[in-house]
Amino acid sequence: MERRDVLVDRLISLGYLKTPAVISAMRSVKREFFLPHDFERYAYEDSPLPIGGEQTISAPHMVAIMCEAAELSRGQRVLEIGAGSGYHACVTAHVTKSTVYSIERLTELARSARANLNRAGCRDVRVIEGDGTEGYEKEAPYDRIIVTAAAPSVPPRLIDQLTLGGKLLIPVGSRYSQELLRITKEAEGVRRESLGGCVFVPLIGKHGWKG
Ligand code: SAH
Repeated sequence: MERRDVLVDRLISLGYLKTPAVISAMRSVKREFFLPHDFERYAYEDSPLPIGGEQTISAPHMVAIMCEAAELSRGQRVLEIGAGSGYHACVTAHVTKSTVYSIERLTELARSARANLNRAGCRDVRVIEGDGTEGYEKEAPYDRIIVTAAAPSVPPRLIDQLTLGGKLLIPVGSRYSQELLRITKEAEGVRRESLGGCVFVPLIGKHGWKG
C-alpha cells in the first residue's frame, strides 16, 4: 500500500475526510511534488512543513478539514488566498474540475508553486502574484474563497467578491492562534460559523497584518 493511501485512510478513520470527491483528490495528488527536495521524505507525515520564505505547507488534516468544510463541488469558481506550495489549490481543483485562482504575495513562492503544479500535472490552477486581502476582482464573483493564512479580521472585499450563497473559509484571530470561520453570504447578510481552533502563518497585506 502506498504511504499516501495509509495517510488518507487515517484521515478517514479520524473523521477528517468524508466526501468521495475529496478523498479521491487526496489519494491522487502527490504531496512530495509540492515540497523542497530535503523534505520530500516527510510528505506523508500529517504535519506542516517549511516551503521557503518562512512559510509552510499546511498539514494534510488541515487541507482535509478545509476542503470538507468548503463543501466543494464540480464546476464551482474558487479563489484561494495564500498559494504557498500550490498543494491545497491542486487538491481543490481536483474536486471542482474547474480553474482555481490562487493568490500569493511572495514572488519566489508564486514561482515555485507554478513549478510544483507543473510537476504534478495540475493544469487547472492559476497562480497570481499579489495581495489577496483585496481578493481578485478580475475573476469575481466566487462560489468559494479559501484563505490559508491567518487574518486579524475578515477583509471586507472578500465578502463583496462572493456569490449569493457563496462561502468564505478564513482563520481569524491573533498572530499565533485563530478560529477557523465559515462565512456564508445570504440575502439577509452574512452567517458566521466557528469550526474550531487552528494555527496558520499570518496573512500580510492591506486588510491583514502589517508585514
Ligand atoms: N495553501 C498553501 C499554504 C499556505 S501558507 C499550500 O497548500 O502550500 C500561507 C501563504 O499565504 C504563504 O505562502 C504566504 O506568503 C501567503 N500570504 C500571506 N499573506 C498573503 C496575502 N495578503 N496575499 C496572498 N498570499 C499571502
